[in-house]
Amino acid sequence: MKKIGILTSGGDAPGMNACIRAAVRMAIHNSLEIYGIRRGYRGMIEGDVFPLDRRVITNIIHQGGTILETARAPEFEGADARAQGVNNLQQIGIEGLILIGGDGTFRGGTMLASESDISVIGVPGTIDNDIYGTDYTIGFDTAINTALEAIDRIRDTARSHERLFFVEVMGHHTGFIALESGIAGGAEELLIPESPLEIDELCSHLVEIFYRGKKSAIVIVAETDKPGNSFQIANEVKDRTGFDSRVCILGHVQRGGRPTAHDRILASRLGIAAVQALIDGKSGHMVGEVNRKIVLTPLRDTWQKQKSLHKGLQETSALLRE
Ligand code: ATP
Repeated sequence: MKKIGILTSGGDAPGMNACIRAAVRMAIHNSLEIYGIRRGYRGMIEGDVFPLDRRVITNIIHQGGTILETARAPEFEGADARAQGVNNLQQIGIEGLILIGGDGTFRGGTMLASESDISVIGVPGTIDNDIYGTDYTIGFDTAINTALEAIDRIRDTARSHERLFFVEVMGHHTGFIALESGIAGGAEELLIPESPLEIDELCSHLVEIFYRGKKSAIVIVAETDKPGNSFQIANEVKDRTGFDSRVCILGHVQRGGRPTAHDRILASRLGIAAVQALIDGKSGHMVGEVNRKIVLTPLRDTWQKQKSLHKGLQETSALLRE
């Protein structure tokens, strides 16, 4: 293998740049030419490809976002668009491709690996942490720290005004961000899809909390597939308990910002591991980190199997919210 390509796809995540940097350095170290593909699968279909060298990846390790840019390209679900993309890469002589993204990106990658001669290796890059085959995805640690900073600020005002707050965090269909930022932020209640809570249970817990003498409370809500749903929950709580509240939707601030040390280190390891996997002749796999060891998982498993929330963390959270 002489030439490889790399792209970022789906939602951007802090640490993607650190991963690109590591992959480029590892490629150069092994005398491989490496090409960047702009805007994910969209750029692959359009042939928007350029050579990467040490100069391009200088001073990007600390930057959020992705220098390769990213996009949603639904047309990639069609075989013609994928064939066009493969053709564009093969014309340049690219034989291996690194995909940094989430489950949607890996669905496309699974197809690519089975339909073409290009070797495909995935790297988990999404703030949601919802990818099977790795303890953490690149961007998750930064996202929970960004959420935590906001929760801490909200606690100051909640305490001063003796208020109930609903803070809505991202996480796709899962409660990873909600659970971990909730524990760290001392949330009084947690609404996540993995352990749904009826509105009556939520209300009686809040009534109990305030009866015991608490003057303020923060409920962390995972947005799931209903962003903005916290407003409705807050209204229902008001109807049943009379508690006035404020709603804060953290939204896209969770996607940006300087990656934490944890995300930079994870991204650096996985960027190197992805190039190594291509050199070793692997394809159709994702590189992940499990118990601090690099692990290869079939791409299909990463989106077909479901990653569960950490049981111990769920128990910790439940106990601290009693
Ligand atoms: P995130 O979880 O951070 O949003 P993601 O990779 O899941 O990241 P998606 O928008 O779901 O983000 O997917 C990224 C891209 O992958 C899509 O825009 C599309 O080009 C491609 N893709 C998604 N699903 C499929 C599929 N079933 N077949 C082929 N390509 C797909």
